[in-house]
Amino acid sequence: LIKPGEKLITTHCCYCGMQCGMHIRVDEKTGAVKGVEPRYDFPVNKGKLCPKGVTAYQTIEHPDRILTPLIKRNGKFEKATWDEALDVIEANFKRIQREHGKDAVSVFGGVSMTNEKCYLVGKYARVALGTRFIDYNGRFCMSSAAGGFLKTLGIDRGATLPWTEFEHVDTFFVAGSNIAECHPTTTQHIWKAKDKGAKIIVADPREIPMARVADVHLDLKPGTDAALAMGLLNFLVEHDYVDQAYVDERCDNYEELKASVRDWTLERTSDVTGIAIEKLEKAGHIYGKSPRSVMLFARGVEQQSKGVDNVSLYTSMALLRGMVGKFASGVATMTGQGNGQGGREHGQKADLLPGYRKLTDPKAVEYVSGVWGIDPSEMPKPGVSAFEMFDEIQAGTIRAMHLMCSNPAVSAPNLPYVWDSFNKLDFFVVSDFFMSESCEFADVVLPACSWAEDEGTTTNLEGRVIRIRKVREPLGDSLPDWEIMKRIAERMGRGRYFPYETARDIWEEFRIATKGGAADYSGITWERIDDEYGVFWPCPSEDHPGTPTMFKERFGTANGKANLPVVTYRPAGEYANEEYPVTLTTGRVVFHYLSGNQTRRVDFLSTMSKLPFVEIHPELASSYGLQTGDKVELRTRRGAMVVEARLTKAIRNDTVFVPYHWGKELAINQLTNPCLDPMSRMPEFKVCAVQLKKL
Ligand code: SF4
Repeated sequence: LIKPGEKLITTHCCYCGMQCGMHIRVDEKTGAVKGVEPRYDFPVNKGKLCPKGVTAYQTIEHPDRILTPLIKRNGKFEKATWDEALDVIEANFKRIQREHGKDAVSVFGGVSMTNEKCYLVGKYARVALGTRFIDYNGRFCMSSAAGGFLKTLGIDRGATLPWTEFEHVDTFFVAGSNIAECHPTTTQHIWKAKDKGAKIIVADPREIPMARVADVHLDLKPGTDAALAMGLLNFLVEHDYVDQAYVDERCDNYEELKASVRDWTLERTSDVTGIAIEKLEKAGHIYGKSPRSVMLFARGVEQQSKGVDNVSLYTSMALLRGMVGKFASGVATMTGQGNGQGGREHGQKADLLPGYRKLTDPKAVEYVSGVWGIDPSEMPKPGVSAFEMFDEIQAGTIRAMHLMCSNPAVSAPNLPYVWDSFNKLDFFVVSDFFMSESCEFADVVLPACSWAEDEGTTTNLEGRVIRIRKVREPLGDSLPDWEIMKRIAERMGRGRYFPYETARDIWEEFRIATKGGAADYSGITWERIDDEYGVFWPCPSEDHPGTPTMFKERFGTANGKANLPVVTYRPAGEYANEEYPVTLTTGRVVFHYLSGNQTRRVDFLSTMSKLPFVEIHPELASSYGLQTGDKVELRTRRGAMVVEARLTKAIRNDTVFVPYHWGKELAINQLTNPCLDPMSRMPEFKVCAVQLKKL
């Protein structure tokens, strides 16, 4: 693999939760980044990379990188030194907190950062700034999965089994997860099982690539996952597919669950979901008979106002079949962001402290305060969720924000409200390595270095903790996010709590902070990660092997049993009606990552997918006189936008789909519904009612 004059640096892709292993090719003399080679030895991707991964190296030295701090003066950004930028930040944060209290300054984090940085964001908010208002973009990504797993399994570890066992699986039930486009390197594991005879069931309103090779495609109406799962739960009970010994020994609440789904006949399920009865029957028999099944789901299921219910019910299906805690079986959520798993465990969430400790638990507060060296009375109380922070801005409670590694000006729902909220801030700081749409609202932009310019760890979608390596020195004046937080902490008079010289210093403190928590990383060393192709948490001591398979003996609940929650079916926040007659759903395409701030800058990816479009069934299109390429105005109760029509039979004829990777007038999130799940506070990106008009 090594070319003359080059060296290879082993690291991982910066994008999705697969965290595929790769080597970055670097010029030995100049240190310049030259290209990428996949890692054949890394068991998760086994030499495969998707189009985003193959081109990820091109972002590192991209000419659009922000190389100096920028201060907005008279509406225009001007280059500044770090001292000048920190002077402005210090003056404004201190003024605002003096006039309006500590909570007037807020922090909005992201989970594409390393564990070290994600951990530090929580400490930075609570110790350096002393604010209770901290939350992160995982609310728009993983929060419903976390809520559903906590309710059923007692611990939110995104996957209960490692991907290396997929080839031995007999049935994959894939719900609301476009794996071939969003996590492409997972497909090789599924194809390997399929070659051995494994069955695939796909539940999705669109005929996504995996649906084309599935044994059954359950083409449900958006927002009806809970009905589908309840219908199938009842089917499993009625057809004696329940693993009664497992349920008796390892689950609570079975009789109550059974009674609650009794009315979900196939007829009623078909009526609510729009899926043909024969398909429901076929799926029920395949899943019910399978000796080793894996339930995979993602944002299609989770980004709903009942995302937690959906996750709980799909997980209950796996529990009724006795599939959790066994070889080549289980449940998993396909984590969207690179460190979506690790980033949500260590204190960026409004109500959590490191190690998945609860901020409402006095013992947890006491322990973490001890690690941080503060008095427990200094620990701020829980704040509010990411989208609710915009309500606090509108109410005048939050007056300043430090946004890191996130682009809610594209990725949040109801964008007109979000943009207005950013404009209402007295003072707004954004750290990023490309000028995002959110940066444009800022008073100060800080140049964070890229994923390839610092050391650290991430936790992939399996729960495997891996090493990210420094490929080159930070470009220009850019700095790692942890160094930026440390410098601001020093300016706020709290520097003594941030004595770190390297990311590893943070890692060593982080290990102690997680010790004894549900997500215990204390036994994981960087050396072990290198030697063992990553280590799975929980890992409470250095001689503990890590935990690739979760819940082998007990679940994470107080009594060690899984819970089978009873769910009352609720409709989506809004449904198609006479005025808004079509259902809009959103998602991703293979060539872009999240808000597109990185991937839109890569020539190949941008050429392959330049603009958003609306997928529309030919029957629906004909009722509006639309052909592929026609301009269509989409309008919901929140706003309108114009996109090009793309006719396809691979979608329900009452639903349209638009990808969300573009900003401003091209942002579909201008239209999406901010209706929140009552537990996870996840907005309902996946379902809203829309009008179509041919232009
Ligand atoms: Fe990167 Fe995900 Fe693609 Fe792997 S599948 S190369 S981690 S974007």
